[in-house]
Amino acid sequence: MSQTVREVIIIGSGPAGLTAAVYAARANLSPLLIEGATAGGQLMITTDVDNFPGFPKGVQGPDLILQMREQAQRFETEILTGDVTEVDFSNRPFRVVVDDETTYHAKSVIICSGARAKLLGLPAESRLMGNGVSACATCDGFFFREKEVFVVGGGDTALEEAIFLTKFATKVTLIHRRDQLRGSKILQDRAKQHPKIDFIWDSVVTDIKASVSGSVEALVIQNLKTGERTEPKADGLFIAIGHSPNTALFKDQLDLDETGYILTQADNTKTSVPGVFAAGDVQDSIYRQAISAAGTGCMAAIDAERFLEEGLH
Ligand code: NAP
Repeated sequence: MSQTVREVIIIGSGPAGLTAAVYAARANLSPLLIEGATAGGQLMITTDVDNFPGFPKGVQGPDLILQMREQAQRFETEILTGDVTEVDFSNRPFRVVVDDETTYHAKSVIICSGARAKLLGLPAESRLMGNGVSACATCDGFFFREKEVFVVGGGDTALEEAIFLTKFATKVTLIHRRDQLRGSKILQDRAKQHPKIDFIWDSVVTDIKASVSGSVEALVIQNLKTGERTEPKADGLFIAIGHSPNTALFKDQLDLDETGYILTQADNTKTSVPGVFAAGDVQDSIYRQAISAAGTGCMAAIDAERFLEEGLH
């Protein structure tokens, strides 16, 4: 049976995927974007986005995604709701299977499947996400002006977030499960010397208490060495225990770095397989911003267009 071969399939529907779709559609590539059963990526769990250019009054994360989606559809992107369950980049055209049942073929693929913040796994944590619990100080720190906040983690992200939060909060307490930080010496020194930052060592958060209005009010913290439990008052809790790129599907197909991020070339979005491109957080462990994801999504669409023009598929 003959199968339509698409010019380009885009996997993922956060800012990277939707921007790639706008550019690919405007280049007449009629992209098929597979948006995943829980579409929109990390912006869907963010409230106010005040750092995306073009929105002087800020925009809600889900609204920003909705507007990008409408823009992609205006230029005739076909959007399919479903999870990619298998890919085969070893033969051409490439094969992409959705929901274990429908197979699509394409000359090029742009992967924008994103990353997700690792969470502690507490029931209260997901319930209070956006109401005092956050996994992104850059996104949400501003809302904790004159408040008392806690950060969990002992790596560079936790240290950077704690230092960033001192711009707003009256006090920042970093809770780490060991008595030694993993982060770089320079950030450790800056955090330890900062008058607004305190540390709670050898301890884990075991629960988050909410006020009647449904926002964070206190934490339950347990010292792993002494077993002692404390319940400090808290206005916010930032989880900074690392991110995981959504790359399980690609690990036998593409070169990944040691932490699972897709490796792209230094000055473009090409992966280890010609014709497969990656953009956004799935290939970026450093910047992880909506605007940088959108930027690389644009680059990936242009890279795919050039690849198709070269006729090497
Ligand atoms: P990371 O280095 O993996 O550190 C994660 C931290 O969270 C560790 O301290 C870990 O504790 C703790 N942790 C993990 N799971 C936990 C859990 N369930 N409960 C409590 N604590 C938990 O992650 P990252 O800080 O996000 O950094 C990731 C990479 O990006 C690193 O290579 C980092 O250097 C880099 N990065 C660099 C910069 C920069 O250079 N400015 C900024 C951000 C990130 P243990 O220490 O006990 O394992």
